[in-house]
Amino acid sequence: EIEKRNHRRLIKELDLVSFHEEVGAGLALWHPKGARIRLVIEDYWRKLHLEGGYDIVFTPHIGRSYLWETSGHLGFYKDGMYSPMDIEGQEYYIKPMNCPFHIMIYNSEMRSYRDLPLRWAELGTVYRYERSGTLHGLLRVRGFTQDDAHIICTPEQMDDEVLRVLDFSLNLLKGFGFEEFRFDLSVRDPAKPDKYAGDDAMWIQAEASLARALETRALPYKRMEGEAVFYGPKIDIHIKDALNRTWQCTTIQFDFNEPRRFGMTYVGEDGKEHEPYMVHRALLGSIERFFALLVEHYAGAFPVWLSPVQVRVIPIADRHVSYARAVVQRLQGAGLRAEVDDSSNRMQAKIREAQVQKVPYMLVVGDREMEAGQANLRTREGVVLGTMTVDEFIALATAVVNEKRLI
Ligand SMILES: [Zn+2]
Repeated sequence: EIEKRNHRRLIKELDLVSFHEEVGAGLALWHPKGARIRLVIEDYWRKLHLEGGYDIVFTPHIGRSYLWETSGHLGFYKDGMYSPMDIEGQEYYIKPMNCPFHIMIYNSEMRSYRDLPLRWAELGTVYRYERSGTLHGLLRVRGFTQDDAHIICTPEQMDDEVLRVLDFSLNLLKGFGFEEFRFDLSVRDPAKPDKYAGDDAMWIQAEASLARALETRALPYKRMEGEAVFYGPKIDIHIKDALNRTWQCTTIQFDFNEPRRFGMTYVGEDGKEHEPYMVHRALLGSIERFFALLVEHYAGAFPVWLSPVQVRVIPIADRHVSYARAVVQRLQGAGLRAEVDDSSNRMQAKIREAQVQKVPYMLVVGDREMEAGQANLRTREGVVLGTMTVDEFIALATAVVNEKRLI
């Protein structure tokens, strides 16, 4: 069962993503069908973020060493970064994370408490040095796209923002068909307060806020004493897949390090400058890793809304091909991803091929269907749903897509 779902095999068989020695280890190439799925994921992600009060930003792939010195990454994360490149005598690094760029946008003007909260999201591609021996399909790569965001708020807004991002995360993940989650709350080791950045009071407030959000939603969680990274406490959400395995994807992480290092402030109601709270959050984690999870969870048989090809129209004989093409055009006009199998194969072979490619719907058209303006519908599971008009099929498939149902 595990082997049947292995994403490294399925991405090849379904022509989704490939890796090549000539390109370099851990660097993924997204083929048209894989890219189509990725676009659907990203479009859904953007739509939810815009509806959820986020602004979307774009930032470059490289930045001057100033950024990484200030953030501290060159101090404590240099091993995970690639060597610098020289541009007109200055050192530039390919980015291992997006945060310093978002902070520079924040610092580009004086902020007031009235501007907060700010929620800035980016599908930001980052590059991290992983030894070649540790690379593993799409699970561990050298270049990947984080569905990143930074939430910047006042202490008074913190509880609302944490609860809001928790609800937002679960809503997003449920859209992909996941229902079961596990929650870890990583807090500091109270015996070693010197190990951590930030003030005592900030840690206490942030840890309490994270715990309160989980408790407000009655989500059972494990409190991991001493598991917080040095710059702040966090919630990790683990997704349970079809085989009951858990995948850690979502992180909601406070940061008491970078705001201070970059001198982020806002003017409070009192007219004085204060340091804001900043939360990093990635919900899918990385698009590459989340894609691997989707492939394995569904064993490549994606729900209709995610399927790269949703409908394959299968003409029984050559004389039905032009009708099949007309059907495809109508389906495409209705927003469905459809294609025709006009190969010289026999009908049974065409059906088998569509099943191997895990295309959710097949519409078989012959003499009778052509005459009546109909098609005979079957699913990739081999269930024959029978003859219907093209409009009836469009209504059926559109409802399944809109409700994000499996099939
Ligand atoms: Zn960040």
